[in-house]
Amino acid sequence: MHKRLAILGSTGSIGTQTLGIVAGYPDLFTVTVLTAGSNAALLMEQARLYRPQRVVIGDEAFYSVVRDGLAGLGIEVLAGRQAFEEVASSDGIDTVVAAMVGFAGLRSTAAAVKAGREVALANKETLVVAGEMITRTAATTGSRILPVDSEHSAIMQCLSSEPKGSVEKIILTASGGPFRSTPADRLAKVTPLEALRHPIWSMGSKITIDSATLMNKGLEVIEAHWLFETAPDKIEVLLHPQSIIHSLVQFTDGSIKAQLSVPDMRLPIIYALTYPERVMTELPRPSLAEIGTLTFEEPDTERFRCLQLARTALKSGGNIPCAMNAANEAAVAAFLREKIGFNDIAGTVEHVMGNTVFNNEASMDIYEETDLRSRSLATEYINKISRK
Ligand code: NAD
Ligand code: MG
Repeated sequence: MHKRLAILGSTGSIGTQTLGIVAGYPDLFTVTVLTAGSNAALLMEQARLYRPQRVVIGDEAFYSVVRDGLAGLGIEVLAGRQAFEEVASSDGIDTVVAAMVGFAGLRSTAAAVKAGREVALANKETLVVAGEMITRTAATTGSRILPVDSEHSAIMQCLSSEPKGSVEKIILTASGGPFRSTPADRLAKVTPLEALRHPIWSMGSKITIDSATLMNKGLEVIEAHWLFETAPDKIEVLLHPQSIIHSLVQFTDGSIKAQLSVPDMRLPIIYALTYPERVMTELPRPSLAEIGTLTFEEPDTERFRCLQLARTALKSGGNIPCAMNAANEAAVAAFLREKIGFNDIAGTVEHVMGNTVFNNEASMDIYEETDLRSRSLATEYINKISRK
């Protein structure tokens, strides 16, 4: 079991943790491709250490810096959006680790699926936006999509060797983020700094804000729908602040299976990369006696409206989840720039969803068009409310 990996988004939170795993298991993995958006310095450092055949820097302004920095090492340097698709679908790769953030990761992940590559999927936005197109393509090319998201990794483990049709419901757990007990009136005034202080996980800024608004759980409901072919009303969300149970599956006989571990993304990453095998890890084992209590509560969808908006988008189908995702990306960026307040993220998403022309065609053209339109609708709305 030796895998040649293309790590798309290698300079991010998931990307760097994946490289840490590669370093720990040199017999299992070789790095063939590394890519970054604009962090040229870290990309070069990683390339010198892991010696991939090719690297891609998304921002073309950094092309010559990376080319000169890696000169003489026999590493091919590419730049620009198109290059991501090229490397994701090229020969000589067994698994594409899709660890770019947001809609920007869609095209390259779709290219990998189209080429029949195995995909270790962190970029949940791909399935949120284009779940129908991606799963349909994967079914024809035989591309295997293995979730890196901890909840979906847990569900995959719970479903292992269970008969199809025996699943009654999927229960996604959520830590609840930093504002789980913050009163509604205070939420309007929370700062980006407070929102970035996640109680459990250290992650990229976009997903950290998504965790604070519970949009992340909404995106994960949609992700679970496509990964496990489960109807929206059979996917529930449960707050579990200790983040020891990563998700559960309830079966038709009334039995529930759960997957437990310390909250550490290296575990779901390594499981996706070695599935269906398990390898020995040095990760800490949870001491249940020390933890003592595991608690659960219903999510408050009035304070955290994004979760409900994502459910509405999933039920609407077509290009509505794409519009929702684009609006959310624009709103999160605006919140981080302190242009809008925390509650305006849901407001922006709702505004854009309500003003999107429904289109049921599951094609890249429609997704691209919807994404662009939704971003400009969101920007218009953000400019309007931020002038007040
Ligand atoms: P991050 O912001 O830390 O890293 C993102 C990576 O994508 C970086 O390498 C960056 O250079 C690259 N990138 C960003 N914009 C790009 C663009 N326009 N073009 C090309 N490359 C670009 O993000 P992250 O936290 O590692 O998350 C990555 C994905 O994994 C997200 O979809 C997130 O939802 C998912 N995920 C992350 C975690 C986590 O613990 N971090 C857990 C579950 C799922
Ligand atoms: Mg998750």
